[in-house]
Amino acid sequence: MKVPMLDLQAQYEPLLPKIRAALDKVMSEHNYIMGHQVKELEEKIAAYLGIRYAIGCASGTDALVLAVQALGIGPGDEVITTPFTFFATASSIWRNGAKPRFVDIDPRTFNLDPNKIEAAITPRTRAIMPVHLFGQCCDMERIMKIARKHHLKVIEDNAQGIGSTWNGKMSCSFGDIGTLSFFPSKNLGAMGDGGMCLTDDADLAAKLRQLRVHGENPKYYHKWVGLNSRLDTMQAAVLDVKLDHLAAWSEARRANAAYYNERLAAIKQARTPYIAPEAVSIYNQYTLVCEDRDALLEHIRSRDIGCAVYYPKPLHLQDCFAELGYKEGDLPVAEETSRKVLSIPIYPELTEAQKLYVFDAIRDFYRGKDQ
Ligand SMILES: *Cc1c(COP(=O)(O)O)cnc(C)c1O
Repeated sequence: MKVPMLDLQAQYEPLLPKIRAALDKVMSEHNYIMGHQVKELEEKIAAYLGIRYAIGCASGTDALVLAVQALGIGPGDEVITTPFTFFATASSIWRNGAKPRFVDIDPRTFNLDPNKIEAAITPRTRAIMPVHLFGQCCDMERIMKIARKHHLKVIEDNAQGIGSTWNGKMSCSFGDIGTLSFFPSKNLGAMGDGGMCLTDDADLAAKLRQLRVHGENPKYYHKWVGLNSRLDTMQAAVLDVKLDHLAAWSEARRANAAYYNERLAAIKQARTPYIAPEAVSIYNQYTLVCEDRDALLEHIRSRDIGCAVYYPKPLHLQDCFAELGYKEGDLPVAEETSRKVLSIPIYPELTEAQKLYVFDAIRDFYRGKDQ
């Protein structure tokens, strides 16, 4: 048997007739840049998340870069964020000339630890950028309370968390701006790159719309130096078809997680994901904290099962951020977590037989070892 980390073929097959029709329409209209499908998707996602304005752009990375710029954050400013995330979280701050200030994570949820945020606030701090890692929303009530107390902006990096909630409220809807990624491996994935900013603030929405077209308004008059970063009409057309299935896919991922949770409970060397009682996760990843991680990874791969380490090196230790002056030991929870995590297949189309095959591989690896 073979179990890939993600099986896009299984996802696309039943949708292909609708996707083809949607793409044919774009090709018959030739409105490749900012066609009506982009606006329609923006309205549909805004309604889905219960947020007033949505602004499509070229990637999840660009959505973060645009969000930081729209909030006027730049040289001399600091933004508090997590070191245990995809690189783009911190690079978006850096690209705007500001500095990421890394705060350690909660060992259970892997998300930014709200207890450690206030100690990291300096006179230069302008914003907090939490990440809803692996599909679990951060404790946004506490983060918003801290932000309000210190007059800080909040950008939610929701690249991995579309549809996740905290106390019933959608991720992306707490902060000043929330961002999405439509990279193909995200829960709502395009057939290429894509991203989006969401906000309830009409002025910020207008600024984001202007910044994605070189900062121009009217045409050829530039108030800011923006990006060329639109969501392709083609991608919007594909995403419109897929959005109708997102809730069911997330439900299927949760059912898969429940399957693994139940069976893996007996294996004490592999800790299953902790989801806070206030949170509903969409399981962009199902991530174990395990003993002897690298050997387990080899063992699983030898059985033709896909798995991955998200993330092997926390961002405060990356070469490109050396001038920030962090060293090994500064953020011990993130460092230890990066040595122990392993993500296993969780995609919605997994069959019962595949799930059992994955579980068996993990059980066999630890069998005979002290349990
Ligand atoms: C995927 C991802 C991004 C970047 O999205 P792209 O669309 O690949 O540019 C940003 N932040 C996090 C946490 C991500 O997982």
